[in-house]
Parts: sequence; C-alpha cells; structure tokens
Amino acid sequence: MKEELLKEFDEWVLKLSAYQMALSLIGVDKQTLAPQGGAAYRDERTAYLAGEMFSIETDLHMVEVRRQLLAEDIDADKRREIELMDKEIEHILVVPKEMFVSYTKLTAEAYEVWHRAKNAEDYTIFEPVLKKVIEASKQMYACRNSSASMYDQMLDDYEPGMTMEKYDAFFDRVRERLVPLIRKVTEAQQIDDSFLKQPYDVQKQKEYMNRVILPYLGFDSSWGYQNETEHPFTDIICENDIRVTTKYLENNVVSAILSTVHEVGHGYYGHDVAPEYDGTIFNYGISSGMHESQSRLLENYLGRTLPFWEANYPALQETFPEQLKDVTVEQFVRAINVGKPSLVRTEADELTYPLHILIRYEIEKGLFTGTISTENLDRTWDEYYEKYLGVKAPTARQGILQDVHWSGGSFGYFPTYALGSAFSAQFMKAMRCDIDVDELLRSGRFSVIIDWLREHIHRYGCRYNADEIMRMATGEPFNPDYYLDYLEEKYTKLYHL
Ligand code: ZN
Repeated sequence: MKEELLKEFDEWVLKLSAYQMALSLIGVDKQTLAPQGGAAYRDERTAYLAGEMFSIETDLHMVEVRRQLLAEDIDADKRREIELMDKEIEHILVVPKEMFVSYTKLTAEAYEVWHRAKNAEDYTIFEPVLKKVIEASKQMYACRNSSASMYDQMLDDYEPGMTMEKYDAFFDRVRERLVPLIRKVTEAQQIDDSFLKQPYDVQKQKEYMNRVILPYLGFDSSWGYQNETEHPFTDIICENDIRVTTKYLENNVVSAILSTVHEVGHGYYGHDVAPEYDGTIFNYGISSGMHESQSRLLENYLGRTLPFWEANYPALQETFPEQLKDVTVEQFVRAINVGKPSLVRTEADELTYPLHILIRYEIEKGLFTGTISTENLDRTWDEYYEKYLGVKAPTARQGILQDVHWSGGSFGYFPTYALGSAFSAQFMKAMRCDIDVDELLRSGRFSVIIDWLREHIHRYGCRYNADEIMRMATGEPFNPDYYLDYLEEKYTKLYHL
C-alpha cells in the first residue's frame, strides 16, 4: 500500500517536472533568442501548457495520495517534500482554472507591453496593464481566504515566514544605519571611476568573459551555458543544465562581469543541490532570499574584492590596454566599489542597493494596502527616489519601467534581494573562520570556496528552511547586524571616513 502510494507520488513529481522543464525552456527562449513576431502564437500555447500543468498539479486524486502518505510511516525527507508541495498546491487549488489561465495570458501580455513602454519611455503605456495585473493578483489571493493580509501572503510566498512586521523591523535598521552612512560617503572625497565608463568593445568583453571569468568561476559547459538578454536571470532546468544570462554594456566594463558572477552564484546553487533532490521541490522551491544570498555572496563578497581582481585584472588590462594601462588593480577595485546614489537598481552599488529595495517595498506595500495607486505611480516613484537617494530619473525608462518584475505579477519578491545580501554577510563571516578566502581567490582556487558553500548550504536545497540552514552553517540565528557592520566597515575604510 505505502509502496504503491510512493510510486504514484514519484511518478506525479516526474510528470510535473517534465511540464516545468518545457515551460522553463520556452521562458528562457522567449527572453533570449525568440523572434518578437511569434510572441502572440507562443503566448497562447504557453498558456495552454501552463493550464495543463495546473490540472496535473491540482489533481484531487493526488491530494488524497499525499494525505494518505502523510498518515503513513515515511522517511523525513519524503515527509518534508510532501508538506512543501501541499503548501504550494493548497494555494493554487483554491484558484479556478480559468482564472489561472487568464492570469498567465495577462502576465505574458504585460511583459510585451512593459517592453514596449520601456522602449518608448512612457509609463502611461504600461499603467493600464499594470493595474490589471494587480487586480488579477488580488483576485487570486482572495481565493485563499486567508486571515493574513494580502501583502503578507505575498511576502511569505517568496520567503516563508516573512511578514510586513518583520520586514518593517529589518528595513528600519537598514534605514537607520545606512542613510547616515550614505550621506557621509556622498560628502567625502569622491573616487575616480571614470575609466570604467569609457567605450569598451563588446566583442572583446565577451571574449574576456569566456576566456577568463567563466573558467575562473569553474562555470563549465558540461552543466551550463551563458546567453544574452535584456534583464539578466538564471534558469535552473536541472542540476546539470543551468542557463545563465547577461547583458553587455559598451560604456561599463564591469557590469556584465559582476552580473555574470551574480548569476553563476544562482547557477551553483541549482547545480550543487544533492543529486537525489533533482527535479523535486527541494531544488526548485528554494526561497528567493536564500537564492539571492548565494548570488550576492559571489558578486559582492567575492567578486568586488582585491584578491579576486589580483587574479583576474592582469588579463582585463591586457584586453583593454588603452583604457586601463595606467590604472592599478587597487584603483580598479576602489572604482568598482564606489558608493553613489543612482537610478537603476541593477546597476546600483552595494551600499545604496538596499535603499532601491526599500523604495520598491514601500510602493508594493502601499499598492496592496490601498495607500498608493497605479495612477501617476511614476511620480510617486520619483518622489521616493528623491527622498531616499536624492536622485531623479530623466525618463520612466530609468525610473519605474526599469524592472520586469511587476509585469509578471511578482509582488513581494523585491524585499528578498535585500534580505539575501544580509544573509550572505553572516555566511561569509562563518566561511572566513574555516578557510582562507582571500588566498583562495588570489590563487584561483575558486572551487574550494564553492565546496564550502555546497557543504554548508547548497546541498540541502530547501530540505531545511532558511532559518535552519543559517543556524547549521553559522551557529546562530539570522542577525542583520553582520550585514550593516560589514557595510559600515567597508565604506568607512574605502572613503577614509
Ligand atoms: Zn539574483
């Protein structure tokens, strides 16, 4: 009896993972190579496949199978797997299929409209569809009949256990400590980073990426490849099929490099989850904050350090002698760590980044608690940027239209980015007690660092929740002070405050 139920459950998981793979690959294709002209045709069929997957996921017979299995004596891994799937499916089970299909169509359409609006630098093109996406999201969440507020439910979907109350407390501390620090940095003697923004031939950047950075990171073509896109992301098909994407900018030589280091951090997480968890929720269900903790750890805590560049700068200098021949590695590293209020989140530095997130958090909270509307949201956006960062976007392209997330109905996602950075600081502290990170970076033994991450974090996937992994890896619960101490120490030194 138990064996039969287990077999049925595993077959169902396999079937779901097949649909998931198809939809993921279509999604990657759509954002990289697919011709724009086929969008309507593709979207309609993608919505159909998503609808089919929805039917499989919400199969009532499988609800019963899972219920019976939970009543049996099964091992702890399987129990956790079933419980996680139950939680996820419970949320969609309450949504009528037609509502789900039309939501998928709407978000696909919204993506195209967002793209058009961004190119036209015109928020009014995007506003009507954004409003529809918000309304549709509200309808879907209303189906859950939860006593929790709508935005709390959204936050919990991306980071289990998180609420507005907890995020408010977190962002209050971020605001308290970082706003004065940013002010001091802004008033200090500025660092010259103009050499980073000269024209750097994109073909040469690509050549450097493939010859130096990807091999240094150990990002191997046997389990992953890199493509280009408008808004870089990583897609994990399975442990040995990881797609990372990047975007090359002619006038910024480090943008593609650091965004690649970031995405490879996501890629390693998917690659290093224990092989027996492949295709299960333990791999694809990892919380956003945990995922972001790994990408940011690679990008900021490793990729922006002097030892990392002692290994990789000579080749960059050789690739771009005209631009970099008179720039020392120390000057280069200082320049890539400049802390300066700016407009675009994905281009923001480590210091001001959390404030970009704070702004999105406050706007989302307002949209779903009813204090902010989509009408003139571009103006609200600008007001927040002036208030927290003292900058104003010349057009909506660098303002409210910069991010793809809202077109896809991803509300509650942004705050995990800031949380992830804060998690990484604590992981780094623990890692530095065990291994000589700087020496490993300098000597190009990046794989030893990845081994530490695999051993303490990656292999578990979401077999344990973020809080449990944090305690196991660092010996204590999450404490944001590690993050704020790290930023304060780093920027005090960098700017001689
Ligand atoms: Zn990321």
